[in-house]
Amino acid sequence: MGVPEAFTRTTDVGHWIGGAPTRGSGTRSQTVWNPATGAAARQVLLAATADVDAAVASARAAQPAWAETPPIRRARVLNAFLALLNQHRDTLAAMITAEHGKVFSDAQGEVTRGIDIVEFSCGIPQLLKGDYTDQVSTGIDNWTLRQPLGVVAGITPFNFPCMVPCWMFPVALACGNAFILKPSERDPSASLFMAELLKQAGLPDGVFNVVQGDKVAVDALLAHPDVKAVSFVGSTPIAQYIYETGAHHGKRVQALGGAKNHMVVMPDADLDQAVDALIGSAYGSAGERCMAISVAVLVGDVGERIVPLLAERARTLKVRNGMEPDAEMGPIVTREARDRIENYIALGVQEGATLVVDGRGCQVSGHEAGFFTGGTLFDHVRPTMRIYREEIFGPVLACVRAKDFAEAVQLVNEHEFGNGVSCFTSDGGVAREFARRIQVGMVGINVPIPVPMAWHGFGGWKKSLFGDMHAYGEEGVRFYTKQKSVMQRWPDSIGKGAEFAMPVAR
Ligand code: NAD
Repeated sequence: MGVPEAFTRTTDVGHWIGGAPTRGSGTRSQTVWNPATGAAARQVLLAATADVDAAVASARAAQPAWAETPPIRRARVLNAFLALLNQHRDTLAAMITAEHGKVFSDAQGEVTRGIDIVEFSCGIPQLLKGDYTDQVSTGIDNWTLRQPLGVVAGITPFNFPCMVPCWMFPVALACGNAFILKPSERDPSASLFMAELLKQAGLPDGVFNVVQGDKVAVDALLAHPDVKAVSFVGSTPIAQYIYETGAHHGKRVQALGGAKNHMVVMPDADLDQAVDALIGSAYGSAGERCMAISVAVLVGDVGERIVPLLAERARTLKVRNGMEPDAEMGPIVTREARDRIENYIALGVQEGATLVVDGRGCQVSGHEAGFFTGGTLFDHVRPTMRIYREEIFGPVLACVRAKDFAEAVQLVNEHEFGNGVSCFTSDGGVAREFARRIQVGMVGINVPIPVPMAWHGFGGWKKSLFGDMHAYGEEGVRFYTKQKSVMQRWPDSIGKGAEFAMPVAR
């Protein structure tokens, strides 16, 4: 199948409230760029507090009937949505490439990973099954059930405009909540398309709403008394702010933050596999993935052997408009983000790291104004450098040398982020030790990007996640529901008078 038409619509992107598109009452807007051409593509309307209030009111009105709808019927709506997503997968992927810049095949993969969560959520009747104990005391039974929270909100980053919202809303809706999505203002179109598909699938109006916007919309959601829980994915400083502010307002919050993912390459690793893994995971999606590998920890003599191979591949990456079929890496999302990444490269040089491949000043023929930067490779990076400690979020791979396994593990464990990590080795004992000792939430053994499948749940440790529960999977079901425990006794056992001692089994 050929690559479909690029997404070129120029109309403004507004909100989706009460089952219909709306421009809202806000007076501010922001440019959405086509990062491959550097041209302004469309405007996104930024919500005012009144628009958030309207979305919450609509969600609050619709939620009780949706919660009363039997789980199997809610699952049927999600099933219809699943079919529509599969049907329109390439349209969504083209929207993502147009606004984010990632290559089309990667955007298709993103949509597929989002679809996985919708598919998982279709099993909600089984997931909501409670526990039951017959006869906890004579004539008394006890069971637990999980009930929805009410209106919940999701605030999402630019780097996965379809997949990350899908970590949240399919599970939340399946559990009987109404949902308000506040997508990234940098690539907002996918959110509205998904809202249209949910309506086509039969979701009642008001159960799913979208407010486009920035801090104004986020702060309005955080302070609104009718929003019971907030899921956030984005950078660490904002994640911490969301967690603290949401908790201050009495909300349940899960806030996933930034990352600096290491890949440890042991001397016994298959070098060709390790090179492929590092190139794909450092430069795929131009390094704008929270699970991208940004640090290679090269153990023993691996550094001498692998750096030349990495350099060769980084130099010859096919950097193109993401809609071109042979593109391996597209542009960076915005000019500012590209400049920030290139400033980090200059900083790395200043800090004394060896710049092996310099991606700065990358020119793509026919796309001279696009926000491109090439793959960059640093060697001899040290843990004290800012390019090692801070998240760059671009196609910059930092190689650090470690003398042995213990030093490699210590490096990873001392880093303030703990999202993903990987170890390449051919020794099962080393792999097992690594998986057990490493202080990181998601671990790959000979797998560079260990993003758990829909039914396992996603979440990092340390500064990569604020809150108790991971996204999606059964953790997601727990996050979007509260447990109720019911104890039941029927009339033939009542009438024995009040009991003042703690009830115990009889
Ligand atoms: P970001 O933190 O800038 O924005 C995320 C969301 O927060 C957006 O919706 C944005 O509008 C909103 N926001 C931004 N500034 C705000 C403020 N001052 N007050 C309130 N809300 C604000 O993140 P981004 O640049 O869109 O995304 C990239 C970041 O997301 C990276 O740090 C990446 O590691 C992280 N990320 C993490 C995961 C994960 O699972 N841990 C997944 C994807 C992305």
